[in-house]
Amino acid sequence: MDFEVKIGLEVHIQLNTKTKLFCNCRNEITKEPNKNVCEICLGFPGSKPFLNKKALEFAMKIAIALDMKINRRIYFSRKTYFYPDMAKNFQITQHDCFLATNGKLEILPGRRIRIRELHLEEDPARLYYPTKNIENAPYTLVDYGRAGVPLVEIVTEPDLKSPREARLFLQKLQQLLEFLYVSDFSKEGAMRVDANISILKFSGEYSFDGGYKEKTEEGSRVEIKNISGARNVEKALAYEILRQKHEKVEKQETRLWDEGARITKPLRVKETKEDYGYIPEPDLPNFEITDELIEKVKKALPELPEMKKKRWEKLGIKEELIEGLLSDPELSHYFDYLCPYYDPKFVANFLVKYLKKSLNYHNLKLKDTFVSLHLLRQLLDKVVNGELLYQHAELVVRKLVELERKEDSIDKIIEELKLPKVVSEEKLLQFINETLKENWKVVEDFRRGNERAIDYLVGQVIKKAKGGADPKKVKEHILKFI
Ligand code: ADP
Ligand code: MG
Ligand code: ZN
Repeated sequence: MDFEVKIGLEVHIQLNTKTKLFCNCRNEITKEPNKNVCEICLGFPGSKPFLNKKALEFAMKIAIALDMKINRRIYFSRKTYFYPDMAKNFQITQHDCFLATNGKLEILPGRRIRIRELHLEEDPARLYYPTKNIENAPYTLVDYGRAGVPLVEIVTEPDLKSPREARLFLQKLQQLLEFLYVSDFSKEGAMRVDANISILKFSGEYSFDGGYKEKTEEGSRVEIKNISGARNVEKALAYEILRQKHEKVEKQETRLWDEGARITKPLRVKETKEDYGYIPEPDLPNFEITDELIEKVKKALPELPEMKKKRWEKLGIKEELIEGLLSDPELSHYFDYLCPYYDPKFVANFLVKYLKKSLNYHNLKLKDTFVSLHLLRQLLDKVVNGELLYQHAELVVRKLVELERKEDSIDKIIEELKLPKVVSEEKLLQFINETLKENWKVVEDFRRGNERAIDYLVGQVIKKAKGGADPKKVKEHILKFI
């Protein structure tokens, strides 16, 4: 039997505005729960919400970056439901009038996923269960600090064909949003996904008259709710495909991804639009989105990762290095800044193989460190001028990543590391000369075809230079002489 998989995603992203979507509460996580709350986000009688214009602009930025059509007039609706994560018993969201529609995101060259719509809504409160397993929890705690945090929801068409494509889509989307500086993905739950999946089954059948008939059968759609992060979405979908191959899905169903057990579990029969009883939000006006506002947001849009990539390909930077540079917006900006001063391939290599490697080791982003362009220029100048060996620059970079305060000069750091002084060209040639004389038997050995003999010679020269010589260069020199 053959299968074809259809996947559509509903992605919720927390926007990192200073304040919440409909009130002036600060949008930040506090250790102590229920700190950032007010009568508006708690829905006290008589309180009136108002729209955070910054959140609207952030959402428009995303819509424009996803090539979407922005609606000129929008309004909000109440999605009514009774659950402790919403003190008002409704969520303010957009329904049948979205901020933007009809976008696309390219996940691989030529592979575009259509985006159906994008809208703004408020995040519900956060629920804490004292046990790992929700079903066994004797009670639930609620933190309304998260209630009212601005979210954009991005809904794709069911264009994704595999769990891997779903992961790729989410990673591309996250990268794009990082470059727009609209969300902070170091926060837990900054991206939460509902993944929809259905499976088409093809089965061939021979009939009595000898003909062959292809039968197709589409299983009902299953929605897996509230998955955190791209990798978990991939795992949950992969599990669901396996399950659906063996169990027939009779009715539309909503399931839950159990991260610990790595399985999906039934939650409820899928709710319909009617279950929520949407009504237009009477406390908020209609909003006009003017050409001026769209122009303003467009103008402020930074260069997007795809454009950077195209530009760098022309410089001859390898794909793998480009991906490395694009994994951290600051790193990519550093690259563009350093490029005019050095060979771009050299800089790309240095930033990805040394700096990014060190950052990864500490699980840091460049912006969280005291690694400045100023220090990197001093360091690279020393390498280019031959004062510091390239391989030793990696040790310096490790120290830079660990800096706990701003530093002006690289010299102190290099001194602390007690790195060997690079010997002059003249001295190097002298050491090589000596080594070859002292080891004429090894040289003979090499001439007779023992290629590895040269490594011994290189080692002897490095020893004389007390580590202050580049093995590659030494080898090149020796090969010229023997
Ligand atoms: P609902 O209103 O029930 O939430 P929507 O039509 O709004 O359903 O679609 C929600 C998500 O489900 C979208 O991301 C869409 O791409 C996806 N989806 C729709 N039909 C299918 C399908 N047959 N298989 C997989 N995903 C689907
Ligand atoms: Mg839906
Ligand atoms: Zn509030």
